[in-house]
Amino acid sequence: MNKIVAAIIAGFALAGCGGDQSSETPNESVAIVATTESDQAVAVDLASLDNIAEAFVKLALAAGQHDPAFVDAYNGPAEWADEAAAQARSLADLENDAQGLLISVARANADEPSIRGAMLEKQTRAALARIEMVGGEVFSFNDETRLLYDVVPPDYDLEEFDAALAQIDALLPGEGPISERVEAFRNSLAIPTDKLQSVFDAAIGECRRRTLAHYDLPATESFSLEFVTDKPWSGYNWYQGEFESLIQVNTDFPIIIDRAVDLGCHEGYPGHHTWNIMLERFLLKEKGWIEYSVYPLFSPMSVTAEGSANYGIDLAFPGDKKIAYERDVLFPIAGLDPAKAETLARLNDLRRKLAHARNHIAREYLDGRLSREDAIIMTMKYRLESRERAEQSVRFVDTYRGYVINYTIGLDLVEGYVDAGAADGRDPWTVFETLLKTPLSASDIKAVQ
Ligand SMILES: [Zn+2]
Repeated sequence: MNKIVAAIIAGFALAGCGGDQSSETPNESVAIVATTESDQAVAVDLASLDNIAEAFVKLALAAGQHDPAFVDAYNGPAEWADEAAAQARSLADLENDAQGLLISVARANADEPSIRGAMLEKQTRAALARIEMVGGEVFSFNDETRLLYDVVPPDYDLEEFDAALAQIDALLPGEGPISERVEAFRNSLAIPTDKLQSVFDAAIGECRRRTLAHYDLPATESFSLEFVTDKPWSGYNWYQGEFESLIQVNTDFPIIIDRAVDLGCHEGYPGHHTWNIMLERFLLKEKGWIEYSVYPLFSPMSVTAEGSANYGIDLAFPGDKKIAYERDVLFPIAGLDPAKAETLARLNDLRRKLAHARNHIAREYLDGRLSREDAIIMTMKYRLESRERAEQSVRFVDTYRGYVINYTIGLDLVEGYVDAGAADGRDPWTVFETLLKTPLSASDIKAVQ
């Protein structure tokens, strides 16, 4: 946080120096956002949120030149992306831009508070922090998640995770480590390679059917599905714009039958694909909020992105609906023994109690209190995974760092938000849709519960 405070102070000092870099006066909101070929600074009026939003998009695109994961999706003007590539601005310049932009958006929000402006300010603060990180700044895990995602995970008591492990031990008794027994059981429910396509077609189709029963999505919406290898993630949605997604599923390891509905809902309906459609349709096209033409991955948007994608599984398949569908439809397609479905459901309920262990391990590892080897061993123990899968999990943390909290903290926040609306008598799907269409950060979502 000190860095940000320092940045704001430094920014105000720059604003006060006047003359040589900008035409700023105390009552105007102006920042340097672009440099011409002759290094002549160009000042852009940043008093309006529309202009601030445009500068934010260009900042994100420019930052994406240094960090390939910075921009997860972009469906704004192609010339802006070309311009960012051609200009190839330095990280130091981008850090200055982000600092100036943060001052401008904070000032605009002070003059006229709005939901749009509040989110844009948090998005800008996150962009600045990520640019600093790409430039070598090292934040503590908690500072990183606060700056990027507007939330800090709680401290965890490992005894609670150990209690869940003991229950899993009783569910799958036998010799050897619990993780090996769980891995062996789950691997007995792997989808045969030649059945992957048909199982995923059925699962995504069912997720889509359940979502369309509640939402009127654009007639042209569609997705394509690809199976890929050698990735640090198990599935990914690459939103293409114009209501289209590319969904990739990683086949490095056997895909267990319960992952089909998980990925179908998470990546597709009512998860990432649906969320992206809502953003593009209602925020970008209807309201003209250009900042939603870009999705900066390391930003407060990711709490809602991952939280809604994970909660979407529960929304589309509440209670025992998921295991019933898997047992009655997907097990037969995959040629698996439906008698194992009940144990799988009970195991997954218990594994859910371990989900937050990943946040603890990531924090200990990234803050330097756990070696990489120990992080792998702890991941094997608490995520009940083989060494190979645990290595992939730690590789994800190496790549995306504190992003891991969005899956669990995000899920809890979204669930709490929908539950609060349902407690007021509102339909959960309607409450969920409101959340998908409203730019809220983690602290905003928490505040309404
Ligand atoms: Zn996701």
